Amino acid sequence: MNSGLLAKWAWRYKTEAGRLWRKVISSIHFDPKHGNFLPSKKGLSCVWNNIVRKEAALKKDNIHLNRLMKGSVGNGKEVQFWTDTWASNISFQYLFPALFSLEKYKGCMVSDRLRAPGPVDRIEWQWHRAPSSNAELTELNGVVAILAQISITNQEDNWTWQAEDLGTFTVKSVRKIILNTNTVPCDFIFEWNRWIPRKVNIFGWRMNLDRLPTRCALEKRHIPIPSTLCPLCNEANETVEHLFTSCFVCSIVWQMVSSWLSIPPIYAYTVRDILGLHKDMAGSDAKKMIIHAILVIACWGIWKLRNEVVFSRKRIDIARLIADIKASSYLWVKNRAKLFSVEWVNWLEFDFV
Ligand SMILES: [Zn+2]
Repeated sequence: MNSGLLAKWAWRYKTEAGRLWRKVISSIHFDPKHGNFLPSKKGLSCVWNNIVRKEAALKKDNIHLNRLMKGSVGNGKEVQFWTDTWASNISFQYLFPALFSLEKYKGCMVSDRLRAPGPVDRIEWQWHRAPSSNAELTELNGVVAILAQISITNQEDNWTWQAEDLGTFTVKSVRKIILNTNTVPCDFIFEWNRWIPRKVNIFGWRMNLDRLPTRCALEKRHIPIPSTLCPLCNEANETVEHLFTSCFVCSIVWQMVSSWLSIPPIYAYTVRDILGLHKDMAGSDAKKMIIHAILVIACWGIWKLRNEVVFSRKRIDIARLIADIKASSYLWVKNRAKLFSVEWVNWLEFDFV
């Protein structure tokens, strides 16, 4: 089965909840204890399981159907809380992996966890045991911060296809994505930012040209490496695009950076989406340049963390990474941009521009 057709079935599964075929598939394959973007009962040989397998194969090529289909939650009855993408640019399953492993019903719906309607005031968790480790509590803070911005209504949920402006699925757009992931033209010029150090600018320039020594880049140059998988998540091949737009680490970073800067959630499909984000922001040129500086510093921080994991076997500590991004950007931008009156507390609130 070709990828376009597969994607169409996945799209129909999500958007045709009331149809008979979908109810049949759901009753055979869906098990609330096992969360998957598309349900699949192992061991059955059937057309549906072939579809699900193909979806997993596409993921290895960095094409994530569950990110291309975004649920817009009304009553939350048709959107899966952990495994669908809805409140963020990545599903909670990947954004909050420690919590996901504590969840009792990994296939639960948004409506199973959030009370309807109105703003979320209580979340009805069902854990195997309560979150207690540092990583679990950090993730819990993260998910609660995201959920605080969600309102459950009486409307039905609906879905948008992220690869088309109109939000409706087309097979053509799937083919385009597959072509694009194989050949990436580079006509975007990296903007040198005079408020960050030269080494960080050089990093940004190399990242934009896809010249960082990621595992996939090394493999292309026939340098022996143990694996091409991303050292941070072990979920997908490590490319520049993956590290900075779809890995769970960067997803949490973008979530936290956008809430720190009070800018809309960052949805990036390419590195250039991040490097060009400031251009569409409201506000003064100085503010745009500070945001650009922070985004490049954040990418640099992710790359440093990745190197620490690979070369020094350090643990992934996202809270520390965020703290580093805030501190380095304060130190560098404040002095270079001559924002001498800006105090650390103003920087943490980002309320001076
Ligand atoms: Zn990754």
